[in-house]
Amino acid sequence: MMHPSSEHSSAEPLRAKDTQQSGTPPPLTTAEIIAAGAELLTPFRADTNSLYLTSELNELGIEVVRKTIIGDEKERLALAIARGLQENRLVLVTGGLGPTEDDVTRPAAARALGVPLVRDPEQENIVRAWFDGRQTPMPERNLRQAEMLAGATALPNALGTAPGQYWEREGRVLVLLPGPPRELQPMWREQARPRLRERARAAGWLHRTLRLGELGESRVDEAAAPIYTQYPAITTTILTAQPGEIELHLRAPNVAGRAEQVAELADRLASALAGHLVSAHGESLERVVISALAARGQTLAVAESCTGGMAGERLTRVPGASQVFNGGIIAYTNSVKQEMLGVEKTILEREGAVSEACVRAMARGARRLHQPDWGLAITGIAGPAGGSPEKPVGTVWLGCAGPDDVLEVRARRFHGERERVRQAAVFSALWLLWQTLNGTM
Ligand code: AMP
Ligand code: MG
Repeated sequence: MMHPSSEHSSAEPLRAKDTQQSGTPPPLTTAEIIAAGAELLTPFRADTNSLYLTSELNELGIEVVRKTIIGDEKERLALAIARGLQENRLVLVTGGLGPTEDDVTRPAAARALGVPLVRDPEQENIVRAWFDGRQTPMPERNLRQAEMLAGATALPNALGTAPGQYWEREGRVLVLLPGPPRELQPMWREQARPRLRERARAAGWLHRTLRLGELGESRVDEAAAPIYTQYPAITTTILTAQPGEIELHLRAPNVAGRAEQVAELADRLASALAGHLVSAHGESLERVVISALAARGQTLAVAESCTGGMAGERLTRVPGASQVFNGGIIAYTNSVKQEMLGVEKTILEREGAVSEACVRAMARGARRLHQPDWGLAITGIAGPAGGSPEKPVGTVWLGCAGPDDVLEVRARRFHGERERVRQAAVFSALWLLWQTLNGTM
């Protein structure tokens, strides 16, 4: 679910006049990335360069509004470059700068721009020297790599033979970068980024994440949309982070006054969704639980059946968890539930291991483990087998026992395959503890 910002509309049509009165072109605010390479259209290789470049461009306050992947086809690539430069004033192409027949980025760019390719003697020397340095004869076709778009600046490649290219005219910029990430990244940092930084406007990108528990995306949007639509300059996205957990991402270029707006929007969303808030600052549920317990000087132990230790694993991801987390029992069989947690045999016989009575006994039993303040228990049917009409696959009981005989239990029915049920069970158990701690049940 995206709420696009109005300031950075994706279509930025070519205007008759792109240079301002003073002659300085307007700052670059939006960009398009084109990844060239037939291998990127197979199931075996992913375009990771665009993730790197998006993060880098955002830091310059430039929003990426389209990413395209094109095979090694000169015509398609030329069309994509031409379209990109029409709609956005910055286009970055990665890949296809090698010496072989399928490396078509240079001629495609030349066609898109309507400029010739010119063999650059300096680049030719660099290519020749690269082979001389390795004492291998240079294949003639490597000289293609010395062909520059007329008017372009070469971006030296410290780790390969293909230079990148930086071409600019009338406020429009085309950057050609090599495909291999180990060549692209230093070239970006040392050659392309400093040039673009001068042309960018914003001091980076603002990003704020709110995490929410046990609420579906559409329910979140119901509550959030009336608020975030009042902030058209901020892009708000709602994502499911993991089963049970929703993230609200607020993003905007860091121009004057915008940080205050982002903070205000985050505060308003946080209070509208208060009962479901994990964190208004992007912290994970396990982290906020550990911090809350540490602040109270309290401790926790877990008793896990169907999650097999996943809750303990999640809690111990948090640095400093040892202050709070005593440990846990993986009580997978009935005999371990009986012997280690003190679950009565009659409960297991009459109600079964996935039952309210059993989870109560498990939560209390967890409090035997070095006398923690809190005991958290999970027992359920993760599937695919083991379900019944009364207790279908995905049925999970959660229990939380605490000081002053507090004992909160709840049942959940999760959908999906085994791993998803187990993850959702862990999240829900931590969520039950969080709500019990906050008195927001
Ligand atoms: P090229 O510059 O087209 O010769 O690409 C050489 C190699 O770089 C490819 O075989 C890939 O391993 C890698 N590569 C190219 N494009 C990308 C991309 N967009 N993301 C990650 N790796 C890439
Ligand atoms: Mg290629």
